[in-house]
Amino acid sequence: MHRAQLESFRKRLAEAQNVVVLTGAGVSAESGIPTFRGAGGLWRRYAATDLATPQAWQRDAGLVWEFYNYRRTLMGDKAPNPAHKALAGLEQRWTAAGRRFDLVTQNIDDLHFAAGSQAVLRLHGSLWLVRCLACGEVEENRQVPITSAYEGSGSPDIDAPQRRFSEADLPHCSCGGILRPHVVWFGEGLDARILRAAQRAVEACSLLLVVGTSAVVYPAAAVIPLARQHGACIAEVNLETTPATGLVDYHFAGRAGEVLPEMLAGLP
Ligand SMILES: [Zn+2]
Repeated sequence: MHRAQLESFRKRLAEAQNVVVLTGAGVSAESGIPTFRGAGGLWRRYAATDLATPQAWQRDAGLVWEFYNYRRTLMGDKAPNPAHKALAGLEQRWTAAGRRFDLVTQNIDDLHFAAGSQAVLRLHGSLWLVRCLACGEVEENRQVPITSAYEGSGSPDIDAPQRRFSEADLPHCSCGGILRPHVVWFGEGLDARILRAAQRAVEACSLLLVVGTSAVVYPAAAVIPLARQHGACIAEVNLETTPATGLVDYHFAGRAGEVLPEMLAGLP
């Protein structure tokens, strides 16, 4: 990391009254959270794009829950890493000073909350929220297995026996409706309220920090131009350069868990 660049960034950050952080999969990768996207991201013979869709749910809701139940199981021993902790520390410091701080994340693992972050807007929902298809109620649900029928299921092995789940095996709301993961699937729109809140925060921010996301997919892709349009200083932390790198003021290359603590330490 270039010392001069680092000093310059810290100075801009120290002056920033409103900070927005946008995070993606790169932040959680160091906690061992698989994304099931891209090469090697298969569960049995399925890519996430085959399972995290309304079509897959229509075809076989039991299989979709088996996949999410497996993802919940994987979270069991996962903990926030130094990147999550550095961001939680930044929020604490900023809000204690009466400044504004918002964290917008594309991740569904809730590790930002586990690290102590409070102002978190979850663009893509959460592995730990369920939504009733009948009454629309969204609630936290940390049951693993999601119902007793899923005990011992979910092996990612391609030869795993295909179990069939009946409607009675699925999780149900107290109203009797079926519960689905409260996660935004491919082809679904985002929660308009959360999207609007994220837009307002970005429009008002004086510094935007983009961490662990290439921001090529909407709405993340719109965040950098929006911040730019409103005159914010923009910094990016990523393993590689991204399509957004040309638009940012600072690009810090490396793992978020190593780079962020260094960037955020020793603020003037
Ligand atoms: Zn219900």
